[in-house]
Amino acid sequence: MTHFDYALAGGGLQNGLLALALRAWQPNVRIALLERENRLGGNHTWCFHRGDVSEESHRWLSPLVEHQWDGYRVAFPGAEHRIDEPYFGVSSDRFHSVVAGAIEGHADSQLFLATDVAGLGPHSLTLDSGAEVTATVVVDARGPLRASGSAPAGYQKFLGLEIELEEPHDLDLPVLMDATVDQSEGYRFFYLLPMGPRRVLVEDTYFSDSPQLALDPLRDGVLSYAARRNWRVAAIRREESGVLPMPWSGTFRPQSSGPLLGGYRGGWFHPGTGYSFPVAARLAAFVASRPPDALFGEELLDFSRRHQRQVAFTQTLNRLLFRWYPPSRRRAIFERFYRLPATTIQNFYALRLNRADQFRLLFGRPPRGLSILHRLSRSGLEGRD
Ligand SMILES: Cc1cc2nc3c(=O)[nH]c(=O)nc-3n(C[C@H](O)[C@H](O)[C@H](O)COP(=O)(O)OP(=O)(O)OC[C@H]3O[C@@H](n4cnc5c(N)ncnc54)[C@H](O)[C@@H]3O)c2cc1C
Repeated sequence: MTHFDYALAGGGLQNGLLALALRAWQPNVRIALLERENRLGGNHTWCFHRGDVSEESHRWLSPLVEHQWDGYRVAFPGAEHRIDEPYFGVSSDRFHSVVAGAIEGHADSQLFLATDVAGLGPHSLTLDSGAEVTATVVVDARGPLRASGSAPAGYQKFLGLEIELEEPHDLDLPVLMDATVDQSEGYRFFYLLPMGPRRVLVEDTYFSDSPQLALDPLRDGVLSYAARRNWRVAAIRREESGVLPMPWSGTFRPQSSGPLLGGYRGGWFHPGTGYSFPVAARLAAFVASRPPDALFGEELLDFSRRHQRQVAFTQTLNRLLFRWYPPSRRRAIFERFYRLPATTIQNFYALRLNRADQFRLLFGRPPRGLSILHRLSRSGLEGRD
């Protein structure tokens, strides 16, 4: 039986980033990466903003970046904003080849594909074959636990089609939110990612009270949106969909001993977007920059408590969004958000909000009829659950 420095259960975003960070900080450590599927990284297009990760992390993340844009746009009825913050795209295919390369290029490390991790403890993993892998640090990032669906939450749910057009499209930048569309079922917008002169990912997205995802109507929605933009579809290259929880309580607890729960499983995601890239990259850098036998302790607790405070604040925002404002009023909240200072927008996406950002998010000049102070004076802060 081989002993590793790190055994990473689950070859998705969190552990893939951790493997790359480890190669940057401690190039010669022995890593076992274990994934149930035949490939790493599932079927995603992950995107992140320039300010989501530190300068240092950009260096080890750069081999993953397949697309890069100078900024992005958002559109609301009567108002369009351009935000000049670079935006990056990572495909699952690129993720698989870069992360697999970081493991397979090292004789003392091992990539286990098509391998189910049946059980794990602080220093060992049991595989479905009954074999055991031991390690100084075990990280469990096998995606969300089914039970976590029971926390009170709204949902970001979406279906995206990567389409090839007959003619070049008219997009110079991604559109993170085209919210000029019909607002059925809560806040709804289209997300557009230009991936080539004639190729674009179009996602029909809802911030909804319900996790149910009816795929056929969403596919139709994407195609009619493309038709409204006068885009003639030559081929559909890929489809992706997701239901990401946007909880307003109980998703994160700091840990003082192993196995370390990472990624969605450990609550290392942004409750206000459902996304996890910035937080997963931050945790990866933290873990990788300490020797394996010195991971647990006060520093990890401090780091985790900082995340916990950010989580608690954004959960409050979720509670306000989903419990206080009816679906028909939610678009106005986002319209206002994009009128806030660029640093607050950046810090929100990065889940690194300071006091001034928090104040602006809660108490800035509200859209008509959406004043939080007004709501507070009428109903108290408890919400309805
Ligand atoms: C379509 C889609 C697009 C998204 N886009 C973005 C985005 O642009 N930016 C962003 O920040 N977030 C995005 N997210 C949200 C979030 O970042 C991802 O869901 C992210 O992949 C979560 O990372 P993770 O490592 O926790 O889990 P995952 O990436 O889901 O990885 C878990 C891995 O564990 C494996 N596994 C499970 N059980 C076992 C087992 N028993 N043994 C071995 N392996 C196992 C799974 O097969 C999987 O590969 C997106 C989500 C979806 C669904």
